[in-house]
Amino acid sequence: MKTFKRYLNSFFLVELIKGMFLTGRHLFGAKVTIQYPDERTPQSPRFRGLHALRRYPNGEERCIACKLCEAVCPAVAITIESAERADGSRRTTRYDIDLSKCIFCGFCEESCPVDAIVETRVFDYHGERRGDLLYTKEMLLAVGDKYEKQIAADRAVDAHYR
Ligand code: SF4
Ligand code: SF4
Repeated sequence: MKTFKRYLNSFFLVELIKGMFLTGRHLFGAKVTIQYPDERTPQSPRFRGLHALRRYPNGEERCIACKLCEAVCPAVAITIESAERADGSRRTTRYDIDLSKCIFCGFCEESCPVDAIVETRVFDYHGERRGDLLYTKEMLLAVGDKYEKQIAADRAVDAHYR
């Protein structure tokens, strides 16, 4: 009986008709595909994308070279060297993040006492050679300068979680 039913289904193309019916139902339903990069899906203010180093409004860099982020990074992706400045403050002379090692866990930004290293909403960056993903202090500060408005707004929304 089972075999007969199977042959009957095959003869009348039942599976094909079921499939076409399913396709037809979605053809006229709400569209879920977006036209990236012209359209983008919503992002959380806690999105963990490309890293940035921030400055204070007077232009002074926030990072005090405490190296907490370097110590906490599970991927050993951060390399910091520091020195004392003429005014007696301590600042980094080198701050590199190897993004080919980074796992975007967010530990670095969570550990920073002065909100200097942060992860932005930027996710569509790329490198064509391995070295392109080694972000230096200058590159990270440039990202921070470019996206500071968005970074500050995200931190304001999210302040009570931090
Ligand atoms: S996000 Fe995580 S893995 Fe990436 S640099 Fe920060 S601490 Fe390291
Ligand atoms: S980014 Fe923050 S945690 Fe890392 S060295 Fe600078 S002040 Fe310390």
